[in-house]
Amino acid sequence: MYTGSCLCGEVAVEIKGAISSIIHCHCSLCRKNSGTAFATNGFVNTDEFSVTKRASKLS
Ligand SMILES: [Zn+2]
Repeated sequence: MYTGSCLCGEVAVEIKGAISSIIHCHCSLCRKNSGTAFATNGFVNTDEFSVTKRASKLS
């Protein structure tokens, strides 16, 4: 199991399964979203991913 959160702790997530692959992506969307030269993305099954703490500003 993996757990994680944003830096301020307002949003937390949990992954119950394995991360199937991890890649560095340099596409324009990943660069724009991360604000860096590339983003590191991990892929998991959606039924094994859950948001355990949600910021009040998110719906
Ligand atoms: Zn990308």
